[in-house]
Formats: sequence, structure tokens, C-alpha cells
Amino acid sequence: MSDTKTINKGEKFAHASVGRLRGFEGKQFVKDATGATSCEISFGTLPAGESVPFFHSHKANEENYVILSGKGRFQVDDEVFDVEEGSVVRVSPGCDRNLRSAPEGPMTYICVQAADGSLKGYTMTDAEITERTSLL
Ligand code: ZN
Repeated sequence: MSDTKTINKGEKFAHASVGRLRGFEGKQFVKDATGATSCEISFGTLPAGESVPFFHSHKANEENYVILSGKGRFQVDDEVFDVEEGSVVRVSPGCDRNLRSAPEGPMTYICVQAADGSLKGYTMTDAEITERTSLL
């Protein structure tokens, strides 16, 4: 398992990496490497047939899990459902959650944690098209 590293940063951005996702193992948190102020992002991989070793709940934050590869089962309190690559699961504060990878192979996911109800504007209500010369 590699550590999340800050690659470069400027006054208005920070670029970090958890390294290659293919073969990624364990859990890496990104907030400290980027200095994010609105959410915590973590990358996790569960080996085949394994779950997170504990259930947990959040007091004020919702979590959004994005399954990047593999498949498995997700449990929220007493409800269980299948997830697979491309699945996105929002979990409210105040409930227990866990996930398990299918026996066929590992499951890699991203979890974005942010204060429940904190999103005020997004995409077309918060963004605006700007004029800038591309340096790409
Ligand atoms: Zn959590």
C-alpha cells in the first residue's frame, strides 16, 4: 500500500495521487494531501470475499461510495443490496454501513464524505463559463 502523496500545488490548487488503482490495496485518505475543505475522499480496495472489519456511522456527514471495479454487497442498517463497477451509493448520517467484496475478486471504490445538506449550488447553478487561453 502506497501513501497518498501531494504531487504539486499552487496557490489555488493541490494535486495528489494514491498511485495506480489497478492492484491498489488497502485504504488511502486524500484530504490532508490536497488540503480539501469541503469533503474527505478515500480510496479503498477490499480483497476477494472480505468486508471492512467494522460497521460505522457518521454523526453529521453523508457518504457517497463509487464502485470503480469489482462487485460485492452493501449493507445500510438491515438492508443489503448488490453493487458493482459503476454503482454509486449515498448513505445518510446516523446509520450503520459496510460493504463486502464478492468471492470472485477484489472491489475498489472511492468514498466521498461531506456534511449532509451542505451542497448549495452545483454544476449549472454554481459554475460559469470563463474566457482563458488554453495552455494545455
Ligand atoms: Zn465513513
